[in-house]
Formats: sequence, C-alpha cells, structure tokens
Amino acid sequence: MTLQLEKATTEQLRDWETSLSQEYQAYKASGLNLDLTRGKPSAEQLSLSDSINQILGDDLSNESNTDLRNYGGLDGIPECKRLFAEVLDVNPDETLIGGNSSLTLMYMAAQFSLHQGFGELADSWSSEGGTVKFLAPVPGYDRHFSVCEHLGIELVTVDLNDNGPDMDAVEQLIKNDSSIKGIWCVPRFSNPTGTVYSDEVVDRIAQLGKIASSNFRVFWDNAYAVHSLNEDAPKLASLMDSCRKHGTEDSVYLFGSTSKITYAGAGVSFAGMSKANLKAFTHHLGMSQIGPDKINQLRHVRLLKDADGIAEHMRQHAAVLKPRFDIVLKHLREGLGDTGMASWTEPQGGYFVSFDTLPGLAKDVVKLAAEAGVKLTPAGATFPYGKDPANSNIRIAPSVPSLDEIDRAMAVFVTCVKLASVRQRIG
Ligand code: PMP
Repeated sequence: MTLQLEKATTEQLRDWETSLSQEYQAYKASGLNLDLTRGKPSAEQLSLSDSINQILGDDLSNESNTDLRNYGGLDGIPECKRLFAEVLDVNPDETLIGGNSSLTLMYMAAQFSLHQGFGELADSWSSEGGTVKFLAPVPGYDRHFSVCEHLGIELVTVDLNDNGPDMDAVEQLIKNDSSIKGIWCVPRFSNPTGTVYSDEVVDRIAQLGKIASSNFRVFWDNAYAVHSLNEDAPKLASLMDSCRKHGTEDSVYLFGSTSKITYAGAGVSFAGMSKANLKAFTHHLGMSQIGPDKINQLRHVRLLKDADGIAEHMRQHAAVLKPRFDIVLKHLREGLGDTGMASWTEPQGGYFVSFDTLPGLAKDVVKLAAEAGVKLTPAGATFPYGKDPANSNIRIAPSVPSLDEIDRAMAVFVTCVKLASVRQRIG
C-alpha cells in the first residue's frame, strides 16, 4: 500500500516509522558495500573500445604526413579535428584537440582568461581589478565549481529549469553586473539533471555576447553531446551557428571529450572556438606544452571514423547503460511515486539521475544510506561551495555498479528516503 505523506494520520506515520526502521535495520545488518557515487564508465563500457589498442599496428600514416611520434601539432591532427568538430557542431578550423581531459582544457581556459586575457580580442578578467564572478546553473557539476573556487572566482547561482538555465535571470544578472565574466553550461544531458537546453535557450545564450563585456565567455561543456540512452532523445541546437547569426562567435568556448566514449583515462579532449579565440588560446597553451599525444588522436580516428561511427559506438554504450537507469527509475517510481516524498529526473541520456528529497533531508538520507552500506555523492556536491540551500538534491550515478548491485542499492535508498521523510513529518 502506498502511504501518502500529506494524508497520513499521526498513528499511521508511527506504524510506518516502526516498520521502516525494522526494514532499515535489516539492511544495516546485512553488511552491504555498494557505491552510487562518481559518474564514470564501467569496465564493460571501457571494453567496448579495447580494439583501439591494436588498431594502429605499425601504420602511423596520417593525412598531413606528420611524424606523429614527434613534437608539434599543438591544435591537433586534421582528421581528428574534423571528427570532433562534428560533435561540437563547429567548423574543423574552429577546433583544438587536447590531452585526455576536457576539465584540464576548461581549467586552462579559465586561468588564461583570468590572467593572460584574449590576445587582440580583450583584456584579462583580473586586469579590471575587483571580484570576478561566474554564473552557475544549479544543480550542476561539482568540478566546474571547484575550478572557479580554486581560481578565486565567485559563483553566483541561477536556477536550471527544464529547458536550460533561467535565461531571464541570466540576462538580468549580466546586464546589472559587469564583473560576471562567464557561465557554466552542460547543454545536453546536464550533470546531474539530464536537461537538454531548448533551441530558444541556446539562441538566447548565443546572444549573451551582445549584452556582456567583450571578455565574457560562455563555458559550453558538451561532455554528454552524443550520450543518449535512446534513439529519440532530444537534439541540441548548434550554439556556434546561433552565434554566427548574431555575430557573437567570440563569446563562447565549447568543450568535450571522449572520456565516456572510449577510455576515461586515455581519451582525447577537444575545444571549439572562433578563430580569433583559438589564436589566443593556442598561444597561451604553447607556453605549457609543445604538442599533445597525436598518436592517441589517430587511434581515435581509426576507431570511431566519423559521426556515424561515433553514433554506432554510443549505441553500444546505451545498451549497457539503459538497463541501469531503468532499474533506478523502477525503484523510484514503485517505491516513492505518489508518496509526496520526492521528485526526480528521468533523463534520456548522460550519466545521472537527479533526485530531490523534501527540503532539509538530503544530508540525512545520504547518512542513513552510508550507514547501511550504500555510498552516495555527498549532499550539497551539486551546488557551489557544497551548499544546497534547500538541502534536498542528491545525484545518483548508476553506471559502475552491476544491475544486481543497483537493484539492492536502490531498495536501501528508497527505504532511507521514506524513513527520513516519515521521521521529519512526525517531528
Ligand atoms: N564535464 C562534465 C559535465 C562531466 O560530468 C565530466 C565527468 N564527470 C567532465 C566534464 C570531465 O571530463 P574529462 O574527463 O574530459 O576531463
């Protein structure tokens, strides 16, 4: 029987608390050790790319006849730029291929913008003196926040709605405060909500360059650009095409990587930006390296080939991931649907389900689950400075555990949510 929190009498709540406590104690006694924390690919997913290790053989021939074993090629080899330009929806001559981590590229981009500036385009953020601020749609990705926290950039939150960031708030804040120099965006299958930005939001983001100062940059982290769980998942409009329409190409940096396409630890990252931005960016980048791993770039081109090759490869990932998401959602719907205790997202791609408890309960739920042997991402992690003002958001990451482990972990999770909610209601 589903008990609805709002409608339950005090006596029903007490009975319910007793039986839930017993259920919880039984889980606790069973010595579980389950983990629904970081969103990384499972070994099964990584194995989908194992042929990459033999794919080159002795053949290092490439389009530009470069000796890939040597230094150079700071912006990447042409065939690799072409391949990942398609993922970012930019032109190949607006593309740079980096090392294995897009987070590194994002960190470098923020650091150059803060201290070195934008070549002929604009001065650095720090040259203006005073606080530098970034907009952070929430809930969001903790490592974006830590980039800013580490560089002393203040984070200002805006709501992430079902169609993307609250653009009225974003535009207003930028108009009123010229110390806001950037915004974090994960435009397709956001971490953690799975949000896909609508065409209208993409177009409004492309127009921010018209109202912001010349050294404002959108940090467009399209980490899950091709990571749909089903064929009819919503598409994302091209940010750069919109920028071209509005003459704001210099106001955006786009990022992505193959961390969740091939190997998270040995993939390639990529960035898309206007040619003027690219010139300044590669100049700065050249101060810290002579060239990236071009052999790895060629391996990726041989494995993935083209956009169709990437799509086919991603279907294999979806076949591994989708059943995991289905189990999570089944537990949530069956255990918590109609109880009035929680809400959650049902993503069509990406790596996460974003879950909201009743206000004030996320930390309790994470603690209860941990004590019963189920590890969850710390409550608050999806907000700047680790502080979720409502203390309600929890990020569920089901990619690594086995189907059976997810099944067991979610049963515990649902019990913890019910127990915390009922206890709060009783007071
Ligand atoms: N951006 C987002 C939104 C992510 O979720 C992640 C990984 N969890 C990353 C970037 C990290 O990317 P990379 O491995 O390319 O550094």
